[in-house]
Amino acid sequence: MLSTMQDVPLTVTRILVHGTLVHGTSQITTWTGDAQQPQRRSFAETGARAVQLANALRDEIGIDGDQRVATLMWNNAEHVEAYFAVPSMGAVLHTLNLRLPAEQLVWIVNHAADRAIIVNGSLLPLLAPLLPDLPTVEHVVVSGPGDRSLLDGCAPRVHEYEDLIAGRPTTYDWPEIDERQAAALCYTSGTTGEPKGVVYSHRSIYLHSMQVNTAQSMGLTDTDTSLVVVPQFHVNAWGLPHATFMSGINMLMPDRFLQPAPLAEMIEQEKPSHAAAVPTIWQGLLAEVTAHPRDLSSMKRVTIGGAACPPALMEAYDKLGVRLCHAWGMTETSPLGTNSNPPAGLSAEEEWPYRVSQGRFPVGVEARLAGPGGEIVPWDGESAGELEVRGPWIAGAYFGGANGEDFRPSDKFSDDGWLKTGDVGIISRDGYLTLTDRAKDVIKSGGEWISSVDLENAIMAHPAVAEAAVVAVPDRKWGERPLATVVLKEGQSVGCDELKDFLARSVAKWQLPERWAIVPSVPKTSVGKFDKKVIRKQYADGQLDTTTL
Ligand code: AMP
Repeated sequence: MLSTMQDVPLTVTRILVHGTLVHGTSQITTWTGDAQQPQRRSFAETGARAVQLANALRDEIGIDGDQRVATLMWNNAEHVEAYFAVPSMGAVLHTLNLRLPAEQLVWIVNHAADRAIIVNGSLLPLLAPLLPDLPTVEHVVVSGPGDRSLLDGCAPRVHEYEDLIAGRPTTYDWPEIDERQAAALCYTSGTTGEPKGVVYSHRSIYLHSMQVNTAQSMGLTDTDTSLVVVPQFHVNAWGLPHATFMSGINMLMPDRFLQPAPLAEMIEQEKPSHAAAVPTIWQGLLAEVTAHPRDLSSMKRVTIGGAACPPALMEAYDKLGVRLCHAWGMTETSPLGTNSNPPAGLSAEEEWPYRVSQGRFPVGVEARLAGPGGEIVPWDGESAGELEVRGPWIAGAYFGGANGEDFRPSDKFSDDGWLKTGDVGIISRDGYLTLTDRAKDVIKSGGEWISSVDLENAIMAHPAVAEAAVVAVPDRKWGERPLATVVLKEGQSVGCDELKDFLARSVAKWQLPERWAIVPSVPKTSVGKFDKKVIRKQYADGQLDTTTL
């Protein structure tokens, strides 16, 4: 028997129309660098401008069907307009990661066959030199301050964003889109091999955004303002732009002002109740407000993920009245795959192990662990395995490119279609995930596994330590052993032997690193995570000043 329910496609268009109409007074505030004059735009205005952009893309630029329109932009109101205009007209929004090396950007744009790029003026120094290598790009649309002369003589046609949309109709006869069609495209920031394209459908975005809005996830409403630090070019800013248009959550957008000092200033002035970013951002902000105290207490809750959150960081923010809430996800999972809300009825002390775990899976994300031999191991809080997931907002394949077929590499997808995350961990009986490592970062020492993340967290609990990254290095006797690289806080000096003694208090003796290096900074990937590949190479090339203890 079929249901008697209406079959209404779940589309980004519907989110746009809803947010514009029902939450028209909610606001997007974009930081301009001048605290007196942030740009303020209501959802009603943003929605109307998104419609004008869609008209311009169709009538002036000739975007048709599922052609790709790329963005090379910071987090700002215009980027939100593109987020809604492009998928709603049936085209595909391709968010470009502005921190990628030039040759990867070129590869990605060509692989996706982007027809137009909307770019922030401040990023023209990055884009302009690449244009001769981007034959599919016929149009460049420039928004915001920046030196336009950099585009002089370039092949694509150049448009001013504001001129392009000015005077266009504020209605559009939106096409009725199949909810399984592509809405957005984002390439993984993988540090090895070629980047892989993940194509989000209208349906996956819609369902993921509803999940983001549940109380067990970010659970925000129109009484909240969310500081969206996580870039719009990185997995749709964790779904926030879509989720906010569903629920009327106000957005505070940092644009290019991502350094700790302006972030502290915008928090103190605009008083967001929520924020989302990777741990390195919160590390930097903590150092800033320690040196120059600011009131961050409006931020009741912060979603932190993208890399493991050191427990010491959580404790430090607790003291500032800011609760960091751990979440796990990947480009392939839209991204939110877990959220660490402790179960009900626990004391603060009992809550702690749940808070530092990666959290629980929401309905819609099924999880299992594949042990070392590929066998499925139980959720018993002890058996470790590679996390595999499936669900309606989890990728089932990668984009094959403009002329290729989608592909499912066997190291990324199981035979029965689950996504192999490459993350190793355990799951408790009550469904909390604790990641112990990336499959490729785990240290295999004499037949035992050592978690690099556990060692990092334990070292980062030392009061003189700002950051620590531990990697596996080859060892003749044990196969691999851990190497600890440590960044000290400003003005601190502490020896490696003292750090090792400190670590010995919380870690089994056989896991203690013999090799230590005090470094000025930990190399980071394009999205702000520790780049362990670079550290391993520095060690192999003899570039690290290592002490052996
Ligand atoms: P990306 O696709 O660039 O977002 O990277 C996804 C990867 O980031 C995951 O597979 C994890 O290895 C890592 N990651 C994301 N969130 C967390 C977290 N809360 N704790 C530990 N690792 C995380």
